[in-house]
Amino acid sequence: MSPSFAASPFDAWLADDPEVARLLGEEADRQSTTLQLIASENFTSPAVLAASGSVLTNKYAEGYPGRRYYGGNSVIDEVEDLARTRATDLFGADHANVQPHAGANANLAVYQALLEPGDTILAMRLDHGGHLTHGSPASITSKVWRFVSYGVSPATDDPDKPGEIIDFDQVADIARRERPKLIVAGSTAYARIIDPLPFREIADSVGARFLFDAAHPAGLIAGGAHPSPVGVADVVTFTTHKTLRGPRGGAIVCNADMAKAVDSAVFPGLQGGPLEHVVAAKAVAFAEAARPEFRQYAADVVANAGALAGALAGAGFRLVSGGTENHQVLVDLRSFDEELTGKVAQETLDRAGITCNRNTIPDDPRSPFVTSGLRLGSAAQTTAGMGQSEMRLIGELIGTTLRHRDDERVQTDVREQVRELCAGFPPYPSLAGT
Ligand SMILES: *Cc1c(COP(=O)(O)O)cnc(C)c1O
Repeated sequence: MSPSFAASPFDAWLADDPEVARLLGEEADRQSTTLQLIASENFTSPAVLAASGSVLTNKYAEGYPGRRYYGGNSVIDEVEDLARTRATDLFGADHANVQPHAGANANLAVYQALLEPGDTILAMRLDHGGHLTHGSPASITSKVWRFVSYGVSPATDDPDKPGEIIDFDQVADIARRERPKLIVAGSTAYARIIDPLPFREIADSVGARFLFDAAHPAGLIAGGAHPSPVGVADVVTFTTHKTLRGPRGGAIVCNADMAKAVDSAVFPGLQGGPLEHVVAAKAVAFAEAARPEFRQYAADVVANAGALAGALAGAGFRLVSGGTENHQVLVDLRSFDEELTGKVAQETLDRAGITCNRNTIPDDPRSPFVTSGLRLGSAAQTTAGMGQSEMRLIGELIGTTLRHRDDERVQTDVREQVRELCAGFPPYPSLAGT
């Protein structure tokens, strides 16, 4: 099967390695013929692909611009300075560190910059949407620091006050009792706006520092669709590959007084040589996110998630927190089919060409490996150009597939409809047919 899309702008150069070339081609094909609804994924621009596939991967550049441990870094210094300036301009911050290899590294660096081992951190419960780096027993974070956690309020039957939103009374109570040195806001599975102001007030009332982990909403913040935590939180970490639509990586922005501690925590505290090809790609993405079109994109992402949520509710799914205000939709499958687990739903949808992930829902009775929920996201397909009518169709297709989950013919039929739908919205039109 010859792929309909090139896997990179430099596709032809891979002719020397047909095995890898074949796999990249197959993945490009998968990405362009199935629906990408994983909330933490997106389609970068070809410019981001080009920068991250560049000769900058050849260069060692331990240190920071103007203070490197190796020679030959005059160009690299300009690249990293450009990325830092574009990041601080985009977010209105004093200082940026663009070296973290991933969002997890950015968080680890901030903990290391602000805390001593054994200090207490107050973050979101993992089974209510917190991230592994917010103190999972499986993560190094829980072995070095002491975590206490807050969660969301209970679900209600009142459609006007559905619950399952961050419970700030609980955050304040736990903060008073546990006296954390750091409070973390941010989540990996939460469909609501996270207001940084109440966190700031609570942190101030107990003398804690405040980290806003914007891994997911960074693009919505840059695009003006969500309130900015920059200047409210002491430090903001984010990934560059989720709603921000850049290369896979992490970044940190902070006030000037925190700059030195953050920089030394990233290097030499946590990492060795930076990935300057990825730093260049981050610079490209920051500039793209500063354009007026990106504001429209952020608004469209939220509107599209709303349309998807509406269609899923119409198909009989209960939505965690009753809806969405960001790019995510969290589905409680129990309302639709008591027997249907997140694991089976994910696998069934995969066969129908609909890519998403199972997710725990608040107070999930099933294990994190099985779960009772699904997490969907609108960021990637919005980049590919889909709008609210496509999102409504996708919601219906999900309902149909899961209603007839044992019927392979339904999966085959939906797979065909998905293929046709995707053909109208190629993620890389400029690389088509190469
Ligand atoms: C995705 C995510 C991270 C980590 O990002 P990686 O790049 O996968 O390491 C950190 N925090 C939150 C809340 C996230 O959703």
